[in-house]
Amino acid sequence: MHNGHTAEPQSYWHASAPPPVPTAPLPEAVDVVVVGGGLLGSWTAYWLARAGVAVALIERTAISWGATGRNGGFVRAGTAGGYADTVARIGPEAARVVWELSAAGQALIAQIIEEEGIDCDYRTPGTLSLALTDESLAEMRQSLERMQIVGLPGALLDRRGVQELIATPLGPEITGGLFFADGGLLHSARYLAGIARAAEQHGARLCLAAVEGLTPTDGGTIVRTSGGSVHAGRVIVAVNAWTDELISALAGRIVPVRGQILAYEPLPPVFTTGVGASVTPTGEYWQQTLDGSIVIGGCRADAPLGDVGVRESVPTPDVIASIERVLPRLFPQLAGLRVARSWAGLMAFTADYLPVADAAPSLPGVWVTGGFCGHGMPYGPRLGQLLAEAALTGTTPAALAPLRIDRPTLAPLAVAV
Ligand SMILES: Cc1cc2nc3c(=O)[nH]c(=O)nc-3n(C[C@H](O)[C@H](O)[C@H](O)COP(=O)(O)OP(=O)(O)OC[C@H]3O[C@@H](n4cnc5c(N)ncnc54)[C@H](O)[C@@H]3O)c2cc1C
Repeated sequence: MHNGHTAEPQSYWHASAPPPVPTAPLPEAVDVVVVGGGLLGSWTAYWLARAGVAVALIERTAISWGATGRNGGFVRAGTAGGYADTVARIGPEAARVVWELSAAGQALIAQIIEEEGIDCDYRTPGTLSLALTDESLAEMRQSLERMQIVGLPGALLDRRGVQELIATPLGPEITGGLFFADGGLLHSARYLAGIARAAEQHGARLCLAAVEGLTPTDGGTIVRTSGGSVHAGRVIVAVNAWTDELISALAGRIVPVRGQILAYEPLPPVFTTGVGASVTPTGEYWQQTLDGSIVIGGCRADAPLGDVGVRESVPTPDVIASIERVLPRLFPQLAGLRVARSWAGLMAFTADYLPVADAAPSLPGVWVTGGFCGHGMPYGPRLGQLLAEAALTGTTPAALAPLRIDRPTLAPLAVAV
């Protein structure tokens, strides 16, 4: 196991579905090495193996050990910053391309978990963003109008419409909400274990080692690992919060940010949809799983520096206490819920709230992806497919253009690390 991980509390997802530890021996040489067994790496390895390519996925701890196995389990097409924000930053055409990547990803999840027989509680009850003031409801209306112009779905709900979706009385703050009927929820650890297992069944080799560096060589890259070196024709680096450890050119541009989260002991159904709210400026989100546990995260704004630059996946008492105040404040009858466990995971943020997926600077035959800003779930399947295509053809697919590294909006993030 990777150093320092023993003190990390287990997520609800890992406690209910222990993450698989790779067991295949490292090859001496292979067509493609994928670094990182999160959702980006696992999907990329899956598509490569399905295409008949010899691929080794190298993960240093366990499949889904990073953000993927610690997250909120929401799958919703779109960008971390929201549609209007993305249009303002990169223009309507690039925003449309990115949106389509995420929507295609969401469709692929449904298709592939069916094809591969993966049991991960995937369902699409929709996701609901709560408005807590009249102003925020008006902003939601404006944002929805802009989305509807380009044919994106969504419905504005008044307070009564919100109450119809939630089986406990609303507190006085809630003025309405924005509902996305196609929003999905799943069990993150079972989902990714299933994708990794399917990749293995298609012929991918899943190896346990920490990648320590990449050195260009004739006809490929030497991937240096804790278990020895591997010669790879092409390499995909998919380590998200840890990107700067392998691709130093992205230090400061893809920045780790801690997300904290907890699960309550099971209770009868209250929430069927995923729900989000901005009780703090950085936002909160929760889902009730099929066993009745509510998994809720957020409140970064209550952490010093918003937990930006933090590289330890451990929760802090102050932020967990803030998260515990969210549900009783919004829904008075949800006072006294009992916390079953709390944990933390590392997200990776960029200045424009968009991920990177591009050829790595100064490393021929290497591509890098990361920087999902807490919203990576809908991207994994389609980005993985496009990165597999890059590794197969040696050319970056045109659909990845908005996520290139030299885009002007990918400025360094000013943080105290
Ligand atoms: C608390 C929290 C809640 C979130 N909620 C949601 C949500 O509800 N919906 C959503 O869309 N997104 C959510 N996200 C974000 C989402 O989980 C991420 O965007 C996504 O999981 C990123 O996947 P990844 O494969 O890029 O990275 P990760 O899942 O972090 O995977 C990276 C992997 O690389 C491995 N690794 C790192 N360095 C090395 C190395 N040197 N050698 C070998 N292996 C290495 C790590 O062990 C890890 O397994 C959340 C994130 C957090 C932390």
